[in-house]
Amino acid sequence: MTRSISSWLPVYVLTGLMAGLAALIMATVDRDGAYAGEHNNWMTLGGLMVLFGATEVLSVHLHFTRNSHTFSLFEIPLTLGMFFAPTPLLLLAHVIGGGLVLAFHRRQPPVKLLFNVASFIITDGAAVLMFRAIAHHSGTLGSRSTLAAGASAMTATVLSATFVIVVISLVEQRWFDRQLLAGLVFGAVTALISTSLGLIAVAMISAYPSEAWLLLVPTIGLYLANHAYVNERRRHQGLEFLHDSTRLLHQTPELESALTELLSHARAAFRAGFAELVYVPGGHEQALHARADSAGLTAGTLRLDGSDLQALVERFEHEPLALHVGHELGDETLGPFLIARGLTDAVIAPLRDDGRTCGVMIVGNRLGDVARFDREDLVVLETLASNVTVALENGRLEHSLDQLRQLERKLTHQATHDALTGLANRTLFTESVTEALANASADGSTVAVLFIDLDDFKTVNDSLGHAAGDDLLVILGRRLGHALPRGGLAARLGGDEFAVVLREASDAHDAHHVAHVLLEAVSAPVSLVGRSVPVNASIGVAVAARGQTTAEVLRNADTAMYAAKGRGKHCVAMFEASLHEAAVHRYNLTFELNRAITNREFVVHYQPIIDLARGTVVGAEALVRWEHPTLGLLMPGAFIPIAEESGAIMAIGRVVLDEVCRYLTTVEPTASDGSPLYVSVNLSARDLMESALPGDIRRTLDTYRVPPSQLVFEVTEGLMITDPEVAVTSLRKLKELGVRIALDDFGTGYSSLSQLYQLPVDILKIAQPFVDDMIRTDEDQPSFVETIVQIGHTLRLLTVAEGIEHGFQADRLDALGCQLGQGYHFARPMPEAAFTEWLAAPPTFTVNGRTATS
Ligand code: C2E
Ligand code: MG
Ligand code: MG
Repeated sequence: MTRSISSWLPVYVLTGLMAGLAALIMATVDRDGAYAGEHNNWMTLGGLMVLFGATEVLSVHLHFTRNSHTFSLFEIPLTLGMFFAPTPLLLLAHVIGGGLVLAFHRRQPPVKLLFNVASFIITDGAAVLMFRAIAHHSGTLGSRSTLAAGASAMTATVLSATFVIVVISLVEQRWFDRQLLAGLVFGAVTALISTSLGLIAVAMISAYPSEAWLLLVPTIGLYLANHAYVNERRRHQGLEFLHDSTRLLHQTPELESALTELLSHARAAFRAGFAELVYVPGGHEQALHARADSAGLTAGTLRLDGSDLQALVERFEHEPLALHVGHELGDETLGPFLIARGLTDAVIAPLRDDGRTCGVMIVGNRLGDVARFDREDLVVLETLASNVTVALENGRLEHSLDQLRQLERKLTHQATHDALTGLANRTLFTESVTEALANASADGSTVAVLFIDLDDFKTVNDSLGHAAGDDLLVILGRRLGHALPRGGLAARLGGDEFAVVLREASDAHDAHHVAHVLLEAVSAPVSLVGRSVPVNASIGVAVAARGQTTAEVLRNADTAMYAAKGRGKHCVAMFEASLHEAAVHRYNLTFELNRAITNREFVVHYQPIIDLARGTVVGAEALVRWEHPTLGLLMPGAFIPIAEESGAIMAIGRVVLDEVCRYLTTVEPTASDGSPLYVSVNLSARDLMESALPGDIRRTLDTYRVPPSQLVFEVTEGLMITDPEVAVTSLRKLKELGVRIALDDFGTGYSSLSQLYQLPVDILKIAQPFVDDMIRTDEDQPSFVETIVQIGHTLRLLTVAEGIEHGFQADRLDALGCQLGQGYHFARPMPEAAFTEWLAAPPTFTVNGRTATS
């Protein structure tokens, strides 16, 4: 029983007070008090010491549930002492004789020892005082002194019992009850008998000193009778305990609670601080395990392999009887085991079934005055252990195995499934792919692996919160699960990465088809925190070639998935060998981005923007390129996604803006009408999320003294939907600077008209696919471009058409009312110098028959 210092504090205080009182008694005791003897003081001291010691050694311990009371026949030497010894000598004899036994035989801890020794002095002192008061210093035997001896022995008994009761009450917060009363009554009866024996001894010594040894016979008889009674009582309690335990085991339906209840019951019955049980059902690796100690009760299963319990169970294979072990027994195998559990003293019994040791039961750290377990405890524990085995093997075996199996199933499921979506996890997924590949090489079937990655999941997580992100993943997992074809297994590999293995794909074409079905299935918008969020995904497909390993197939699917992202996301890409090279490439680029930023390897190209109605140049779009030292000029598609992922995009954005501003102030390019040319700069979603952006832009504008009206910032629609609030705030701040905002690639996102209405934008850029579509659609047919232009008119926004490659597109756009346009039809993006040259003498553009007249 471990208790905190605070609960022991009253005991320390009581012991301190008692020790103080004892010291006072020792100091003030009447040194020449009358006593009968003229005996040799040393002999008297020696004799009494031996007697006090002997009564302590031969004391009996009576157990009342959790406590044990100790009864010694100390009244015999006390009575003798009162008649024949000076008081200090009597006290000294008890302190030394009793104290030595307590310290060395019973190994009592210091506080307990101090308590007991102080209690000896106080009780003896009180007894002597009572004796002297009644017997009037008469040290000879007579009716008065007999009465005095009886009264003083009773005083001593009551006093010492009171001290014990007070201590128990303090430690256990339990007040006087029947158990304690029973102890007191038993003590009083013993005290009366031993006082009478003491008095007879006094009479014998006074009258027939040489025959005094005869007294040994009744004394030993009394001791044996006491002992027999106590043992009988213990046996009875043991039986009661076994009976209760068996009932408990059979009546508690839940195995775990049956075991824990059994252990706490055993702790009480053995008055032990610790009880543990481990049981290995035949043919199982998992063991049932329960433990009860001061920290509480635990029960569950345990892998026996390698645990110290395994060594213990194995040890009992060769030694099927219960053992009593303790620190001082110096057992090599058990020493460390005991230390690990903080046990000083323990009894261990094997659980045996059919000659096999299937577990052990351990009870340790005896509480109370008796610090050791004994043979009786071993017998009880052995019986209990065999009862437990019978209960587990017979009535419970099936039940316990069922519970074990259930638990095992639960654990295996946890180990192989993703906790959030319930889909397979990476471990199970790779195992399944390996298995499928093995089967495929045996029966010639085709295995395909699909990697599915959400587009812009990070934006959802960052803007709507992780809980919303989790919800999205759960919904996605469910959609994937529903759309899976036969023989498919879906898994979540981590983050927003999902994967599917098709074990019954017929060929690459089939796998491609399934990928499209899955893409459709996951792509419906999801309602999160009260708003509709579009869901897009990129899917990479790898069909396993003969002899390919799991790692290779997974890597190929991953590569294909990246290719899908590179192709503008929300699409399916099949793995091809060339993709692998591209992937290696991309991987290397990630590391080179930072160097490129410091070395200023990024350059800006300019693509003119034309006023369609007049055929004149009004502005240009700044488009970044990477002059890679070995790979040559890289287009944004080759590095922007990587830079967005790595975060380098923000630094690149700053470089571009810096370049553009420098260009505007140093070269001072002008539009066809001689006014300053405006330049459109692209911002990535991540730029916009950064609160430092407006400040940075203003500083750059100030540094180069560029009028804000000369700058337009292009942002894509995607961000407006996932986090309109952040986007709107950020855009407002930009607009406060005096720059204009263009919504790039308009039409590819999902923003509604009402959302668009709230956005602080000035320009709509019609995405190239819609301009391309004009080639296919009839002039009379209303096209999407027309709708966008109308939206622009309604919201009083400028519209810019991107990707105009043919004159007729320009004509139609102009006819629809689209004001501006850019595209290869007019000019390709050009390096700064070429663009400046181009500007100086731009070609003549004819739109709808009109030619620029600058
Ligand atoms: P965007 O902003 O939509 O840019 C227009 C893209 O269309 C440019 O591709 C341009 O070269 C291309 N283009 C222009 N006219 C035609 C045409 O007639 N036909 C065809 N097929 N394409 C045409 P580019 O330069 O490869 O840039 C791709 C994307 O990279 C840009 O799309 C933009 O989103 C991004 N980007 C470019 N520069 C930057 C930058 O400095 N920062 C950020 N964050 N993104 C940039
Ligand atoms: Mg752009
Ligand atoms: Mg664009």
